[in-house]
Amino acid sequence: MKKEKGIISIGVLLYVAFLGIAVLTFQKTNETVEKGYLASEGNAAQNFAVLTAASIHLSNDEVTMLKGLSSADLQASAQNQALKELISNPQFTSKVDYAYVMVQLPKEEVKYEVTEDNQKWFDAEVGTPLDILWLLDVTLADTQANDNAQAEAKEDILRYSYYIEEDKEIFKDAPLYILHSSEWGDHICGYAPLYSNEGDYIGVVGVELETKDYDTYRKSAMGALALLLVVATLTLTLIFAFLYTKYRKIQYDKIYIDALTGVYNRSYYNNRLVKYLNQTRKEGYCVALLIADIDWFKKINDTFGHDAGDQALIEISNILTETFGKENVIRFGGEEFVVGMWIKKEAELKLRLSALYKRISSTKFCHQQIDLSISIGGSYLYCHEVSGWVLSSMLKAADYKLYEAKERGRRQFLLTEFDAEKQYEK
Ligand code: GH3
Ligand code: MG
Ligand code: MG
Repeated sequence: MKKEKGIISIGVLLYVAFLGIAVLTFQKTNETVEKGYLASEGNAAQNFAVLTAASIHLSNDEVTMLKGLSSADLQASAQNQALKELISNPQFTSKVDYAYVMVQLPKEEVKYEVTEDNQKWFDAEVGTPLDILWLLDVTLADTQANDNAQAEAKEDILRYSYYIEEDKEIFKDAPLYILHSSEWGDHICGYAPLYSNEGDYIGVVGVELETKDYDTYRKSAMGALALLLVVATLTLTLIFAFLYTKYRKIQYDKIYIDALTGVYNRSYYNNRLVKYLNQTRKEGYCVALLIADIDWFKKINDTFGHDAGDQALIEISNILTETFGKENVIRFGGEEFVVGMWIKKEAELKLRLSALYKRISSTKFCHQQIDLSISIGGSYLYCHEVSGWVLSSMLKAADYKLYEAKERGRRQFLLTEFDAEKQYEK
């Protein structure tokens, strides 16, 4: 019992460990898939940004001029049109939605700050300087959100924003990329630094790539992994259940099966028989308990040897189990067997016993060389269910009858209806 609990605990522990590893693997893979995808798309975005930056040629004077334009004039400007043409070229890329040049204004050039009036557009405190300017700003995305944005963009102030912590990375010289989720959908944004014709740093070129397939890609990758983990978990559960059942059977056999004959042993009689009889009982039947003992078995051992005796015991066991059912036969000890079963009536019991005697008397045991006979004492009781106490009294009664059968010359069975009032003595 202790051993069994230990095995279950180890199983549960292994199972929990497996589940833990599975969850970790899932999370790690999700991260890796995400990183891998973003890295490949991000590199593409960066390359687009670098290419775009290399194709934009602005002089310092043009930069100054562009800074002063209204939103509408910016859209109409030759410089903005040139950028639009560049990124509209399907050979350049069909996935770019937005492209822009983002400039961080020095303090003295800041024109606006967040006020109570314009706060509806900016998620910042009143007084925050709007020091980020979209010097060029091209939109290809054809969305409702975009239409609204274009309508609003007529407000010149919307060319501006304020510097946020994340911009630190973007305004560094080294290009990089980020995943950006907004009302326009998920975009991978690639950045590259932009210099004027004179070689002065202007700001940052940003291009935004659609990532519509990102979720589909991740879902299918993670779906495959999830399926694998579910199958592995189920397989593990089945293997564990199978091994545990096997283990239980081996343990059960070890405790309850007689090693020589393969029939149930005395431990089974003591621990399981009452339970078994009550589980198999049928309404209107009687419980019968028989003790069978081989006649003159000592002589058989003496004459043919112990091995022949063993073989005869095995063969008798087989005949008994074939007659009464494997579940009902117990090797009680030595050459003594107990049979416990529910039977419809005494007459049927007698019929079965007669058949048994006929079979034994016509069988030559141990390689056709030994004649054997058995004596049987039995008691039966019409009842609904049987208790351990009744069974042990019935066994005494059966034993008494066995003694009588031996006395009367063996090779016979004697039965008695069990009477709880009667004292059975040898
Ligand atoms: P009776 O008709 O009175 O029952 O005579 P018996 O010789 O069968 O009676 P007894 O109980 O004196 O002898 C039983 C013998 O069974 C004694 C023992 O040597 C033998 N025996 C018990 N267990 C085994 C076993 O596992 N294998 C063999 N070969 N013999 C066994
Ligand atoms: Mg005997
Ligand atoms: Mg005996």
